[in-house]
Amino acid sequence: MEELKEFALDLLWTWQPRIENLFRTLDPELWESTRQNPILLLSQLGEAGVARACERADVQTALASARTARSEYYDQKPRFMDAKAPLVVAYFSLEFGLAECLPIYSGGLGVLAGDHLKATSDLGLPLVAVGLLYKQGFGRQEIDAAGRQVEVYSESRGGDLPIRRVEGVEVEAPIGTRSVRIGVWRAQVGRVPLFLLDTDLEANPPDLRAITDRLYVPEPDRRLRQEIVLGIGGVRALRAMNLTAGVFHLNEGHSFLCALERIRELRASRQMTLEEARLVARAGIVFTTHTPIAAGSDYFDSGLVWDLLGPYLTQVGISFDRFMDLGRQRPGDPRERLCTTYAALRLADQSVGVSRLHGAVSRRLWKDAWRGLPETQVPIASVTNGVHMPTWIAPEIADLLRRYVGPDWWDLDGRDGRWQAVMEIPAPVLWATHLDLKRRLIEFTKKRSEKPAQLDPDALTFGFARRFAPYKRANLLLQDVTRLTALLNSSKRPVQLLFAGKSHPADQPGKEIVARIVAFAREEPRVVFLKDYDIELARHLVHGADVWLNNPRRFLEASGTSGMKAGANGALNVSILDGWWDEAYRPELGWAIPSAATLERPEIDDRAEAEGLYRLLEREVVPAFYDRDKDGIPVRWVEMMRASIRHTATGFAARRMVIDYFDLAYAPGARRVEQLRLLPDWGG
Ligand SMILES: *Cc1c(COP(=O)(O)O)cnc(C)c1O
Repeated sequence: MEELKEFALDLLWTWQPRIENLFRTLDPELWESTRQNPILLLSQLGEAGVARACERADVQTALASARTARSEYYDQKPRFMDAKAPLVVAYFSLEFGLAECLPIYSGGLGVLAGDHLKATSDLGLPLVAVGLLYKQGFGRQEIDAAGRQVEVYSESRGGDLPIRRVEGVEVEAPIGTRSVRIGVWRAQVGRVPLFLLDTDLEANPPDLRAITDRLYVPEPDRRLRQEIVLGIGGVRALRAMNLTAGVFHLNEGHSFLCALERIRELRASRQMTLEEARLVARAGIVFTTHTPIAAGSDYFDSGLVWDLLGPYLTQVGISFDRFMDLGRQRPGDPRERLCTTYAALRLADQSVGVSRLHGAVSRRLWKDAWRGLPETQVPIASVTNGVHMPTWIAPEIADLLRRYVGPDWWDLDGRDGRWQAVMEIPAPVLWATHLDLKRRLIEFTKKRSEKPAQLDPDALTFGFARRFAPYKRANLLLQDVTRLTALLNSSKRPVQLLFAGKSHPADQPGKEIVARIVAFAREEPRVVFLKDYDIELARHLVHGADVWLNNPRRFLEASGTSGMKAGANGALNVSILDGWWDEAYRPELGWAIPSAATLERPEIDDRAEAEGLYRLLEREVVPAFYDRDKDGIPVRWVEMMRASIRHTATGFAARRMVIDYFDLAYAPGARRVEQLRLLPDWGG
């Protein structure tokens, strides 16, 4: 039992199928009914049940195999293990998507943060992470009889999750004139610890206990409280555990208060002036902005900031106006609210966007943080997102990579010549593997489909799954229903569409789009809406889809990562040239939807781009898929699948992303911090 518990508490099982398989083997039904939660699985089996199961031969084999997987992982010497500098990076994020059973994420931002930690563990980079433990998470999506999204919240207790309480550590953070007590939990992500802050403690009054109830509460008052807990409480929690970080990475502006707490600490311990403390704190602060529109940031009224942070600002020794100005486009304008993105940009030494294009969009959008600088010189760089390949590549495709590229494919640099061997995977082998994965996806859709789905494993299958925000245009394909149904119902070359996605509970236009797609799927046998998009569903979709469709309004998708997951599994992307696809696209590995992007007249752009999309599907994508050799293999398509795997699995891997962060931001930040330590002001 103890050993199994150790396996459960190390989230390494989320990317080592041999360890995951141990839990599945113990009790396949319980594994599914607990939403793949190994702690619940073990507690429901009980000591006696586990002991009985462990006598079975299949469990013993699975256990041996899990042990091997674990020791192989920890015995290999990762790239950064020898890095001499005692550099510790502290990574702050309001959400982390690590495992289906850990309800601390909502979507792309969280999955990216989770993938960052997993790749960091693979590389052996010294990094610790800080987030919040939500009692109810983001809520699950149900569809009611009228076809509308309803959110269902269920509570989980920390003790039922694969995390453990950090005993003896409690810190406080200021909420106006009061303080909230914060407990700390630890999730172990391979070599990387993730500390989760929890305000649901007896010692807190009910309104403070509720701070960490749910993820992405829309009310600014509740949101700012969460940001206080994350930013200020997070720095204090690290301090209380004696973890000294040199570099602080703010994943999105939610954690900007972390910079302020650093300033407070420096002023208190080193008698620095505000300006000195700001410069020293700033040296180690890295900020990633994820939004391509100003409205995507949090904005807080001055009254609210005064109420919740007023007394704290006095402790920091920063005037209220000065603080508000940090977050204003035009400092000095008292009508302006505090925008977390401006504040983070002004507090960080290195800021980045999440794709090359998004870097450029961000320089334009936020240039006023550097008044007088021409846009091209605005110091916002970019690190293109990546996804954790061992998590997202199907085990069957990973087997092919192991066989053709090498057992350490996931640890190879993209420039390594061995990757070329992907192009030698025989077409019948890759195609048969893909068909198996597609059949598995179709099997899985029965669990989440709104209606009995009649899907055909031989039909060209599109995946479209993402948050249903209006700019993502899940309904673009529905612009001309006649033309779409002609594609769907072609007798020789049928197409089927799988949609999934939630909209934010407060996003009414997004919910309308969900309802529109659900209504269409209820009429069309070849269209399916899969409810409750989450990591498990995402995995099945990116493993089994033939085509991954992404058609946002251009410039509004900062990066997009689901297309990377799909592309690395051999799905071909059909996408607007936005975010990552703007730099990944080549005709050998997918298609670009022509975009008009006037941006001023969205209805005209929508019509033009829908037209471009239909044409692309009718003339190129569908014919390429159904162009078969005598054995029924789409040879040209498989050629593109190989190119897609080859380029996506390397160039858009979280491994590459983390190394880029190291080179561009972490190592230089740590050097600056070290240099400042030598200044007499610092005092040693
Ligand atoms: C990858 C992922 C996302 C992000 O996908 P985008 O393409 O960036 O929209 C969202 N939700 C889940 C569950 C994911 O796995």
